[in-house]
Amino acid sequence: MKALDELTFDNRFARLGDAFSTHVLPEPLDEPRLVVASDAAMALLDLDPAVAETPVFAELFGGHKLWAEAQPRAMVYSGHQFGGYTPQLGDGRGLLLGEVYNQAGEHWDLHLKGAGMTPYSRMGDGRAVLRSSIREFLASEALHALGIPTSRALCVIGSSTPVWREKQERGAMVLRLAPSHIRFGHFEYFYYTQKPEQLAELAEHVLNLHYPECREQSEPYLAMFREIVERNAEMIAKWQAYGFCHGVMNTDNMSILGITFDFGPFAFLDDFDAHFICNHSDHEGRYSFSNQVPIGQWNLSALAQALTPFISVDALKEALGLYLPIYQAHYLDLMRRRLGLTTAEEDDQKLVERLLKLMQNSGVDYTLFFRRLGDESAALAVARLRDDFVDLAGFDAWAEQYKARVARDGDDSEAQRRERMHAVNPLYILRNYLAQNAIAAAESGDYSEVRRLHKVLTRPFEEQAGMEQYAQRPPDWGKHLEISCSS
Ligand code: AMP
Ligand code: MG
Repeated sequence: MKALDELTFDNRFARLGDAFSTHVLPEPLDEPRLVVASDAAMALLDLDPAVAETPVFAELFGGHKLWAEAQPRAMVYSGHQFGGYTPQLGDGRGLLLGEVYNQAGEHWDLHLKGAGMTPYSRMGDGRAVLRSSIREFLASEALHALGIPTSRALCVIGSSTPVWREKQERGAMVLRLAPSHIRFGHFEYFYYTQKPEQLAELAEHVLNLHYPECREQSEPYLAMFREIVERNAEMIAKWQAYGFCHGVMNTDNMSILGITFDFGPFAFLDDFDAHFICNHSDHEGRYSFSNQVPIGQWNLSALAQALTPFISVDALKEALGLYLPIYQAHYLDLMRRRLGLTTAEEDDQKLVERLLKLMQNSGVDYTLFFRRLGDESAALAVARLRDDFVDLAGFDAWAEQYKARVARDGDDSEAQRRERMHAVNPLYILRNYLAQNAIAAAESGDYSEVRRLHKVLTRPFEEQAGMEQYAQRPPDWGKHLEISCSS
């Protein structure tokens, strides 16, 4: 275990120099205080979780203090936002404080979001508000617990600093951890500004540090791009299987590592709705739940364009062609497991599609349906779940197919079935209304609810005593909360 002053820095991105990032110091928050910290994320830095409660912790991650070895930098990038190219973006309210490596030899970027103005702030104030910082913290740690690749969050620091959004709120900072903060938009920036040397330097950097195994291949850059395609396909398959809607899949919010990144107005589905749009600024539904799949490919082709100086167009196209089949294989594999199936049959895709259509028509809770399906034998479970459906004949027909499919899958005991299904079907997910309750309490100075919710979400598959209220469908007020983009 390390103390806070024992972190070991190795600032590899900063060393790329001023063409890639600009030195900026964090702008401190007034009266910084710990809102919540993640023990699991602390462990990634070998930090003793107890240090989160010390005053120096809030000072460090509230922008007041800095390690001598840290090199805070605002990174420059660009990106396609809602389909249109924005030539210059960058860390407008976040700073890469430095890169730390742990005892296992893993590198972690320390990225402080809400750290004040930078040369890339455009019209913004460089700040993040408490509500969005809490949402990012909870989502990062909840997705990780579900087994979905994601950036992590070490802590949220609250403050008394006023920040203006639709109304006056309080500033906060979230400390984000990821092996890299390089986005698709980094490549786009150097490609469209016609800086071939820097583009090549960036590609070398990513290949050497993050895809070293691709070096062994005959075409290392192509191998790296293929790997990026595969990782994105797998990540999005998991989003779809667990009902996660990212909300702002702009290419500046897509990680080069294929991890869920840059949380804004995200949501987990309550009722299943393929057309759900969680971002209320997304008028055309470009980033609706079901559109995430083709948008994943669209984003990868935007990255591919920026890689054309290194890889032939034909090879890039071929690699992009891997996306859908890989997505489908991962998605179907997960959905089979969610249905409790251990074997594969050709019609399984149809079985899943029919179920989703029925759930859509009846507004069935996506998470609880699968959880309850595993509570008992297939026959008993479908009999009990039947009441949630409006189209009873449709559900009965599906249930017959499902029971027959389960019977063909092989015999196991009810207990085995439950254990297997509960291991992949969470009981607790980060419902918007749960986050909202925790935020409302935190805004009035009570952080106990954020902390409790965070704890529950770190073990989403285990039933936890006394936590029934976190495993319910939302009350009426919590059903279609509009989440603003101005965070
Ligand atoms: P986002 O929608 O959070 O992914 O941000 C898109 C771009 O706007 C990024 O370059 C951000 O750094 C920048 N940005 C967002 N909010 C702010 C803010 N409050 N102040 C300065 N820049 C911001
Ligand atoms: Mg962003």
